[in-house]
Amino acid sequence: MSKPAAAFQAAASAYVGERETRAFLRQSLAGYLAQRRTGEERFQDWEEARVAASAAKGEALDYLDRYLADFLTRIEKRGTRVFFARDAARARERVVEIVREHDAKCIVKSKSMTGEEIDLSETLEHLGYEVVETDLGEYIVQLRGERPFHIVAPAMHLRREEIRELFAGKIGPEAGRSAEPEALTMDARRAIRRKYLEADIGISGVNFAVAETGQICVCTNEGNGRLSTSLPRVHIAVMGLEKLVPNLDDLALLLPMLATAGTGQHLTGYTTIIGGPRQPGEADGPEEFHLIILDNGRTALLADDEQRDALHCIRCGACIYMCPIFKNIGGHSYGTTYMGPIGSVITPHLRGLEEWRHLPSSSSLCGACTETCPVRIDLHHHLLHNRRNAAAAHPAPLEKLALRAYGWLAGRPALFSLAGKLGKLALRAFSPLLGTALDPARGWTRCRALPEPPRQSFREWWKTHEPEPASERDDDDEE
Ligand code: SF4
Repeated sequence: MSKPAAAFQAAASAYVGERETRAFLRQSLAGYLAQRRTGEERFQDWEEARVAASAAKGEALDYLDRYLADFLTRIEKRGTRVFFARDAARARERVVEIVREHDAKCIVKSKSMTGEEIDLSETLEHLGYEVVETDLGEYIVQLRGERPFHIVAPAMHLRREEIRELFAGKIGPEAGRSAEPEALTMDARRAIRRKYLEADIGISGVNFAVAETGQICVCTNEGNGRLSTSLPRVHIAVMGLEKLVPNLDDLALLLPMLATAGTGQHLTGYTTIIGGPRQPGEADGPEEFHLIILDNGRTALLADDEQRDALHCIRCGACIYMCPIFKNIGGHSYGTTYMGPIGSVITPHLRGLEEWRHLPSSSSLCGACTETCPVRIDLHHHLLHNRRNAAAAHPAPLEKLALRAYGWLAGRPALFSLAGKLGKLALRAFSPLLGTALDPARGWTRCRALPEPPRQSFREWWKTHEPEPASERDDDDEE
């Protein structure tokens, strides 16, 4: 078992046993679902919008060379310095170079999952720079020394009281006096606002990049993206190369879809569109704007005809909310930047199938992820594709043997029926031991109920319910 697989198993087993935590998570998710339904109703036809959104992302990827060239010509013309990073290490190196060139001390950062993907904050902090996350959820998990629990709602696993205690301990005596959301937000705001003015560099992610106009778009709910990208003298944006969309019409479609699928909002609170550094005559904006475009396995995924639509992802996080596995093991168990179904699809591509081949199996294949995805990514089939690829690379002889044995048994009705009866007897015999120290299925029953043995098998039931053949029924009717 690979190291990430062992860590996943340990973390998931521990989380599954925390019933109260899981109940709290389910409660938070119920709020999201109600808002999401209302959000979808605002669209004339949500399903049509999904089709159009998928087509827009598909168009950008099918002609990526052309759209990328258009985008670069326009954004570079306004003085943006663009750098292509083939992997996470190269992207980190480039950010560090820029930070050193400007002799920066303090860096403010708005939420960026691409930044998380390349371990940007950790790298800069390790080198001694002060990095302040300015998104409220990110700020909370940074104070706790944790990774985000969910890509859109990084601190959704925490109760208000836990956040109050955290603020009182980490920000100072002026913070954490009340656990009301407004008071907690103001505590964080007061602490972070000072940092915008001290910061030499602001780092952001990119939600969309528009080829037609050569602009990037950053969506936030707290205005922190706008402050991080315009107050410091230098702005660095880190963008996955799949963020490109052809034109502003596509952006106008995708913005409300992102907000609806992500949080049930009509639009995020702030939509910031940036076309370059401050231009002559403009009052606001940074003196320098650096755009780092990250590949990190994306072009390989683009070349994969079967799964390339995984690059349509707009990181709304909806598939994660809907996933029954996420609901039971939480976001941290995955040990990846992108958790849930989309993470289990793309992580083996971005970080290697060898170490991350366990992730596609963390799915019930119920298809709820595919159904909810606003850009119609065929997530559950991609999970199957990844399972197939993992099995081909690492055949499991025992599993194969077990399936062969099952196939052999299923082809012999009398034996199959006998095996079913024996299984039922065994279940009945062991049921008094369930939950005790002698329970042979303790690993399973510790956090799940064992199914009751059915009173009759399907074959027995069928004998008494089998409909009459059609010809006999017709005869009866004629009589
Ligand atoms: S795969 Fe779809 S649902 Fe999941 S985060 Fe991406 S866009 Fe959202």
